[in-house]
Amino acid sequence: MSVQTVHKADLIVINGRVLTMDAARPSAEAVAIKDGLIAAVGDRATVEALRGPHTKVIDARGGSVVPGFIEAHMHLFSGAAELAHLQLAGVHGFETLRDAVLAYARSRPDARILVGQGADYTILGAERVTRHHLDAILPDRAFLMAAPDHHTYWANTKALEMADVLHGRELTPGNEIVMGADGLAEGELRENEAFNPVLKLAGEGRVRLGLSTGGERDPMPSAEERDGDRAIMRRGLDWCARHGITSVQNMDGNYYQLELLSEVESEGDLICRVKVPFHYKNFMTLDQLDKASDMDRRYHSEWLSSGLVKLFYDGVLDSWTAVMIEPYADRPDWVGEPLFSPEEFKRIAAEIDRRGLQIAVHSIGDGAVRAVLDGYEAAQKANGKRDSRHRVEHIELTTAADIPRFVDLGVIASMQPPHPPGGMSFPLEPTVSRIGRERWPYAYPTRTLIDAGAHVVFASDWPVAPIDPILGMQAAMLRKPWADDMPDQRVSLQHALAGYTVEGAYAEFMEDKKGRIKPGFFGDLVVLSADIEATAPEDLHEVRPVTTICGGKVTYQA
Ligand SMILES: [Zn+2]
Repeated sequence: MSVQTVHKADLIVINGRVLTMDAARPSAEAVAIKDGLIAAVGDRATVEALRGPHTKVIDARGGSVVPGFIEAHMHLFSGAAELAHLQLAGVHGFETLRDAVLAYARSRPDARILVGQGADYTILGAERVTRHHLDAILPDRAFLMAAPDHHTYWANTKALEMADVLHGRELTPGNEIVMGADGLAEGELRENEAFNPVLKLAGEGRVRLGLSTGGERDPMPSAEERDGDRAIMRRGLDWCARHGITSVQNMDGNYYQLELLSEVESEGDLICRVKVPFHYKNFMTLDQLDKASDMDRRYHSEWLSSGLVKLFYDGVLDSWTAVMIEPYADRPDWVGEPLFSPEEFKRIAAEIDRRGLQIAVHSIGDGAVRAVLDGYEAAQKANGKRDSRHRVEHIELTTAADIPRFVDLGVIASMQPPHPPGGMSFPLEPTVSRIGRERWPYAYPTRTLIDAGAHVVFASDWPVAPIDPILGMQAAMLRKPWADDMPDQRVSLQHALAGYTVEGAYAEFMEDKKGRIKPGFFGDLVVLSADIEATAPEDLHEVRPVTTICGGKVTYQA
């Protein structure tokens, strides 16, 4: 390289409407990247001055250029594997379901079990799905379908028989094989322990291990399986890049996933930065957190990192497994069963915090949110206040009293804009009836939390909802109240974008490196097909990523 080109940029983006998310310079026309970092942000002349003979030039054609999206809660491995499953999102009614299942079954004559995903709790209207419905569609081959939230699955009789759960099984609290009056399983399987035996038949157990047990494959997969698993990871990373995502915070994990991603990295194909947590389950003991500390020690690069412990405190509203303070509106004797007792959780939170690790807890009901905040408070009392940035995931319901605690305790609220019922991905029922009208004002309180001053990160929880951050931004901006007297939970474009950029970076302790287009920051950005500031929120879904750049390299080009 000659002396003259040594200071030239590797890549420049020109003709853009650059939304930097940097308060010092909120907008610009062009960006230059060198050695994987942002070298300059400014007007075209400033950036063109860095153009050399080998500089790659990307013409944004007047479209928005925004920081690479940070997806703060998702499941990379299982999401990628599920791209090959029968997709049931939007399918309603028995006939439509039958046609979809039969067509899929014909396309996979040799599959041991057929698996569908994205089946609404109301896929058959008001009628609850049982194995008999599924038997009427497919009597002789095993079939299993997942609700979008992946907390409930429905199996036909063949599948229940093959997995040996037709007669039920003892499970730990929070899990349930729903039994019929005939003493046999009805087909509805609530939570991991209930559906794992059936899901195992698909031979995809290893893609869900980080979620179901947090454990490792035993015996370790064959070389062939490992190749296949790396291919699944690559497919997932590619899916992220094509949606403008440059960083993902995975919400399940084990060594195996980190090893696969590290192999993908050494092959030069790690096209998104990935954080993988240790998954702590309620059957574990505190000493098992040594593994979390070890994962953090071994993986701490800007491309692949850990340092996070993920837990589930409760389940979901739709299957009454979320933990409530007061009983469910449609089940007056029931508040749900936590996966940990509040005291147990306090001990666990204090120990994780003592190790200097970050905590993220799935907490859907207001009772779960409160118990988890109590745990973080206890950890702070035990270990002293530090910049811990512990997180509460989902917060589908909370209370007026707990909102300010997010700010007081420095806790991050992780919200999924596609999730509120009646919005982007889910029907109103059964969720809104489970919550009950009195509690609606504190359901999915995105704007309330932002206005209170909490850090709020956005995510899809893919494959629970489509991964597309632009759809997520649109959902956040168009959030519809369920009644006129509910608070307005819509957010501005600026807040929607912040939830997928600066706040995501904050959640990773990386706000000085990513989430903004600013000199010295990572060269992570996405060029969009239109100017999002000039696009009505109703039309935002038409805006598409055109070029995704991560670490200065083009990772997706439309
Ligand atoms: Zn999740």
